[in-house]
Amino acid sequence: MEKTNRQLMELSNTDSLTGIANRRFFDSVLEHEYYRLRRSNSELSVIMLDIDHFKEYNDYYCHVMGDECLRQIGKVLTGCVTRSVDLAARYGGEEFACILPDTDIQAAVSIAEKIRHRIHNLKIEHEKSSVSEFVTASIGVTTVRYSAEISPEDVVAMADKLLYKAKVSGRNRTEYAAP
Ligand code: GH3
Ligand code: MG
Ligand code: MG
Repeated sequence: MEKTNRQLMELSNTDSLTGIANRRFFDSVLEHEYYRLRRSNSELSVIMLDIDHFKEYNDYYCHVMGDECLRQIGKVLTGCVTRSVDLAARYGGEEFACILPDTDIQAAVSIAEKIRHRIHNLKIEHEKSSVSEFVTASIGVTTVRYSAEISPEDVVAMADKLLYKAKVSGRNRTEYAAP
């Protein structure tokens, strides 16, 4: 019974396509880690990642290839986000996100850049991308300390805004800020 419950719990926290954590689990871990900051006065970093020109990829190479691409990118994330307290998740569609407790902006950006380079180094051909001959991703990174004025949703919104900045300034890049 206990084992079955644990298996059900794991399933409900896992994205079935990539096998990594899903949005639901991401949200609950972020909430937990953010409110833990209140006591520890340490820093928490969040990475948001979105694949570049993925609609064109699906349209040109088909959905099955798109799914395979998402799986490979999921593996890159788990390979780069390795401490037991860290979390890599599929946030939705072709967006991924990471939670890095006790990580300053410099360390978070270096992990983000490692992820970005490894995605490029997968050398997944992307004929229809304006950015590269291979599949690439754009990334936003933010680092916060606890503040009563900031909610966990605000932290995601901040990282998302930086991701948008990476998109409009040319894609295949990392933008960051630690307000
Ligand atoms: P941008 O560079 O601005 O991010 O452009 P984009 O084309 O990546 O962004 P857009 O939001 O227009 O398209 C996202 C695409 O992601 C749409 C859909 O075809 C694809 N997608 C979302 N979820 C899945 C999935 O589970 N499997 C596959 N194969 N494709 C997916
Ligand atoms: Mg998107
Ligand atoms: Mg995209």
